[in-house]
Amino acid sequence: MTAIFGGLFGLATVASVFALLIQVFPVKNQRPQLASAVAPSASAEEPNSTEAERPKRNVLKRVRQELPQPWRVEDLKATHQVVKGDMLRRSLSGALDEEHVPKDQVYRILKAFDGVFKFDHPKKKDRFVVALERGSKKVIGFEYIVGPTEIYQAKSTDAGLLEAKRLDMQVKDEEFSSAFYVGKNFTKSYELVGLEPGLTKVLNEAFNGQTSTEAFQEGGIVKAILVERTSFGRFVGYDRVKALEYRPPDPSKPALRAYWFEGDGVKTYVDDKGRHPSNAGWRSPVPGAPVTSNFNPKRLHPVLHTVMPHNGTDFGAPSGTPVYASFRGKITWIGPQGPSGNLVLIEHPNGVQTGYAHLSRFADGIKIGDPIGTRQLVGYVGSTGRSTGPHLHFSAKRDGKFFDALELKLDSLQPMPSSERDAFAEQKARYDAALEAIAMPEPPEPDAPPSEESHAGGSGSGGSGAGNAGKAPEAEGADGAKGEGPSKSDEASDANASAGTKAKPDGAKPEKGDGPGLLGEDLSGEIE
Ligand SMILES: [Zn+2]
Repeated sequence: MTAIFGGLFGLATVASVFALLIQVFPVKNQRPQLASAVAPSASAEEPNSTEAERPKRNVLKRVRQELPQPWRVEDLKATHQVVKGDMLRRSLSGALDEEHVPKDQVYRILKAFDGVFKFDHPKKKDRFVVALERGSKKVIGFEYIVGPTEIYQAKSTDAGLLEAKRLDMQVKDEEFSSAFYVGKNFTKSYELVGLEPGLTKVLNEAFNGQTSTEAFQEGGIVKAILVERTSFGRFVGYDRVKALEYRPPDPSKPALRAYWFEGDGVKTYVDDKGRHPSNAGWRSPVPGAPVTSNFNPKRLHPVLHTVMPHNGTDFGAPSGTPVYASFRGKITWIGPQGPSGNLVLIEHPNGVQTGYAHLSRFADGIKIGDPIGTRQLVGYVGSTGRSTGPHLHFSAKRDGKFFDALELKLDSLQPMPSSERDAFAEQKARYDAALEAIAMPEPPEPDAPPSEESHAGGSGSGGSGAGNAGKAPEAEGADGAKGEGPSKSDEASDANASAGTKAKPDGAKPEKGDGPGLLGEDLSGEIE
């Protein structure tokens, strides 16, 4: 594989190698425009022109056979009046009416789709495009776009009739494998080997709580067998992960693997023992984060020898790490609250209330009274309030009394049913071999300047290098994790008895795994 990195000889060769399994190549010494211009026919590019320049590193996206696109209503833009809109919460006739499409023309559209598509249940993000003859306002073309691979189109025939059909978007799913080193900025890490947006989400879904990309450390290695979806040979998204491995930089730590498994009654991502978290259960609020301090109602202050209860469980994670609702419920508090700092409280249907304290900031668009779903984003790890460093103080209460949140059995695992074990073992063996066959990625260049997008609070001494506070939206599919990390002693020697550090929201220095100071954690009673 290294030979191919050497440069530009025969992109055609590359294309044919792509027919094999390994299909993502970082290619050095190429001019940036090549990165996007490369197509199977790209052997026509002049390789010599790149010799003089030595850009840091350029990447090739997967080589895909781009097909000619079908006719689209927007193609009429030059000659017709083209109106576009989102459905939002409107009916189709309501939406078209608001866009001043004449009623008789709306009727023509609806009639054309008789037996082709029903517009009964529009989704907010569904879109429409309509092309009208200028002056007469007669509809010449209409499209209803559910997603990049689901588009319905009506087009005026020579006889002036509207004919409707679902467009064949030439959707293709293709399995391929790739590997990359985790750098300071996670998104850049995978972009470097040509992987594309949406990857974080599928990786987190695949780990299903075992860990998350947020917990990946700089220098770690990710290997994945992925299924990508294309339409007319253009990338649409990652459909799923078939198998995945994360290898931490510390060789004494075990590599984690995940697999997609479909059998009778099981259709989910599982770990290397075939287990998966119960869908109905409680999930960890910070996937992959270690417990750094346990619930301890009788905690003694090591210096003052007084009882300083620790009414929650601390998860160590860098500032900016996403925090998710542990279970569905209703938000009963969002805002600063004394020593808790920025706090979210959620009331759950089973009489349990959970609290998420010291957040650097809250998730956009949530407010008190909102329903919230299991694993929905509530905010980001921080160090606000009385806290000695970034971590999540996670509390649980029943009947007004704090109890140990770990009693909720966060991410409790379901075993693979015995009837499926042989099938899983066979599939696992196949994918394990495939994972092992993936060539190691090129190591990151040591002299690479730090990426400017690396988040201030994201990486540093602590080691969880993915400085990814800024890319939370992509991480929304992240899963919970079992609090499998080492439980650090409460009795951190750093018993800073002062009022605690009031960290700037979002700007705190990450100190992952930092045993929280004593007074810093004491949230006795004040969450109320
Ligand atoms: Zn705490």
